[in-house]
Amino acid sequence: MGLATFRGGVHTYEGKNLSEYCAIKELEFDGDYIFPMSQGIGAPSKPIVAVGDYVLAGQKIAEPGGFISAVVTSSVSGTVKAIEPRLTTMGSYVQSIVITSDGLFKEVEGIGTERSLDDLTKNDIRNIIKEAGIIGMGGAGFPTHVKLAPKNDDDIDYVIANGSECEPMLTNDHRLMVEEPERVVGGMKVVLSLFPNAKGIIAIENNKQTAIDKIRHLIEGEKNISVVVMRTKYPEGGERQLIYAVTGRKINSKMLPADAGCVVDNVATLAAIYDAVIKSTPIMKKNITITGDAIADPSNVRIRLGVPYGRIVEAIGGYHTTPAKIICGGPMMGMALFDTNVPVVKNSSALCAFVHDEVAESVGTHCVRCGRCVDACPIFLIPPIMSKEVEKGNLDKFVELNGMECIECGTCSYICPAKRPLTQLFKQAKKEVQAINRAKQAAEKAKADAEKAAADKKD
Ligand code: SF4
Ligand code: SF4
Repeated sequence: MGLATFRGGVHTYEGKNLSEYCAIKELEFDGDYIFPMSQGIGAPSKPIVAVGDYVLAGQKIAEPGGFISAVVTSSVSGTVKAIEPRLTTMGSYVQSIVITSDGLFKEVEGIGTERSLDDLTKNDIRNIIKEAGIIGMGGAGFPTHVKLAPKNDDDIDYVIANGSECEPMLTNDHRLMVEEPERVVGGMKVVLSLFPNAKGIIAIENNKQTAIDKIRHLIEGEKNISVVVMRTKYPEGGERQLIYAVTGRKINSKMLPADAGCVVDNVATLAAIYDAVIKSTPIMKKNITITGDAIADPSNVRIRLGVPYGRIVEAIGGYHTTPAKIICGGPMMGMALFDTNVPVVKNSSALCAFVHDEVAESVGTHCVRCGRCVDACPIFLIPPIMSKEVEKGNLDKFVELNGMECIECGTCSYICPAKRPLTQLFKQAKKEVQAINRAKQAAEKAKADAEKAAADKKD
């Protein structure tokens, strides 16, 4: 059988050799841990502790601030030092709980207690996942308990574990599948227990043969779980690309995977689900990759959430030369970091530090109409025309050209020989359109409220 794949995409420089053989090292730190109240998609969480409180590792310190929002748990024992805005990887200040660790890592009673899936109802499982504060660990950070509650459990045909790790340089999901495949498969079994008609698929790119072998070995004899090997190509791990590659089904930006009968979870999310449901352990730790040609000793590490990136880099040997560019996440979709005193959060995946800043060093020119970006766009968009319209300020035309479907994957910018800043233009345009739409909705609501108030007064 051929390898699963999708149309478009790009074969990038992989750079995984820097860290793919580096076993995950567990590191502990003293000092302050920072827990932002916004760590993914949804409403900010609400603190339920006060300055001066003593908390334990695994203790809930913030509750969801809305339906789409998540619990926040302390990863250390210690004292709440402050609740104040702190700089995050998004480049903005976010209300955060700062806890000074006492270095003892004393845990809430019961953490680690083994549970059997047979003793739990679906409601129990969903509640445990919610209380554990699990969000999508591989990207946008959508709350997992919401994702695992579609309209009808019977309509889900596939639970897909995203083990593609298609971003260049990143290897922590690979190491997770090699070193702890039982956490991934265990999480898959938990999720499958929610959906009676679903099959489990663990989708892995063919540049991770060791992970494929490990998982295949572990699921021998499992009738309902299989491994699908995908052609290594970026952005294979995008939800839409993954669903198409594995099932042939299509979704757009207005649909959820559940609309195509699918639930997609990153392999690290499945591991967190296993920890929460089977081992009674909320999300407190995270595997991340620290890599790039400016890092002295590229590594995969497991650290407690809330620790600042700078401290991790220092602990593994620092930079061998001053980096020209530091990115939080992978080089294709990550965010440039200007200050590494920002905390690792639940959906953090990596820090990449480079000797050269290729984007700043490259000079963009006019489009040479080569069409490469059109061939490579996984969403079938027309980047050269969209970018011209954005540059002219014609956002209506950008929307007409389906620009809002852009997944900001960076493929078009990567492949463009003219070094056009395509993705940056589309990101900005999408933000502007969203802001205009929000303002329109607010104005319409205000008008409707005023009309209703006037009508009520007449009555
Ligand atoms: S960034 Fe947007 S336009 Fe460019 S390739 Fe990705 S989806 Fe297509
Ligand atoms: S890849 Fe760059 S130069 Fe080629 S068509 Fe697209 S925008 Fe133009």
